[in-house]
Amino acid sequence: MWRLDQKVALITGASRGIGRAAALALSRAGAAVVINYHRSCDAAEQLLGEIEVSGGRGLIVQGNVALYEDCERMVRLSLEHFHKIDILINNAGINRDNLLIRMKPEEWREVVEVNLTGMFNATRAALRPMLKQKSGGRIINIASIAGIYGNSGQANYAAAKGGVIAFTRSLAKELGSRGITVNAVAPGFIETEMTAALPAALREQALKNIPLARFGKPEDVAEIILFLAAAGSYITGEVICVDGGMML
Ligand code: NAP
Repeated sequence: MWRLDQKVALITGASRGIGRAAALALSRAGAAVVINYHRSCDAAEQLLGEIEVSGGRGLIVQGNVALYEDCERMVRLSLEHFHKIDILINNAGINRDNLLIRMKPEEWREVVEVNLTGMFNATRAALRPMLKQKSGGRIINIASIAGIYGNSGQANYAAAKGGVIAFTRSLAKELGSRGITVNAVAPGFIETEMTAALPAALREQALKNIPLARFGKPEDVAEIILFLAAAGSYITGEVICVDGGMML
C-alpha cells in the first residue's frame, strides 16, 4: 500500500469528519500529522491520543483558517516541531445553508472566509517553506460537488467551493515546475456532523440519487486524499469526485 514515511502533513480542520479520517489514514501510512482544529479541542486531543497509541507522530495546533495570522502560526509551529511540511490538506469548511432570498450577508461572508479565504491563508503561509525545501510536495484541497454542479440553498457554499476548484487549477499551473502537485477532492454526501443535521426528507431524496445506494463515509474520502498525497505524482490540477456516482 502507499507509504508516507518521513513525510509531514498539515491538515486543517482535522478534529472531526473528513479531516480526522485523513489524519488517521496518513498517519497509518507513516506520515507525521499536524492536526489543526478551531473549536473542538477535546476531539483533537482524542485524535492525537489515538495516533500516538498506534505509534504515530502528531501535533495539535489551534487556529481559525479565516485569519491569516493563525495560519502563519500554524505553519511556524509545524516547522518548529517537524522541521518541514510536505503535504498540505485544506479541509476546514463550514456551511450556512439558506435560500439566497433569506441569506444573511454574514452567512455569505462566513462561508467564503472559512472555505475559500481560509484555503488561501493556509496555502500562502505554507508555500514559502515548501518551496524552500526544494523537495516538491502535495497540496490537496477539499472542494464539493456543489462547487461543480451548484446546489439550491447553498449559493454561498457552492460559490466558495467553485472558487476552491479555480484556485486549485491556477496553483497547479504556478507550482508544476516546482514539483508541487495541487489537486481537489470533491465529496458528495458524506456522513459527518456537517450532513447529520439535514432534514430526513432531504437525506432520503439524496440517497435516491446515489447509484452506489449509500452515503459516503469520511474514510471513502480519506482514501483518495491518501492516494493523492502518496501516489498520483503525474496528476495535478485535477478534481476527483467521491460521490458514489451521485452526479451521473
Ligand atoms: P465537519 O464534520 O463539520 O468538520 C469540519 C472541520 O472543519 C472540523 O474539524 C472543524 O474544526 C473545522 N473547521 C471549521 N471551521 C474552521 C475554521 N474556521 N478554522 C479551522 N478549522 C475549522 O465537516 P466535514 O463534513 O468533515 O467537512 C470537511 C470538508 O469537506 C469541508 O471543507 C466540507 O465543506 C467538505 N465537504 C463535506 C461534505 C459532506 O457531505 N460532509 C461534502 C462535500 C464537501 P472544529 O470542530 O475544531 O471547529
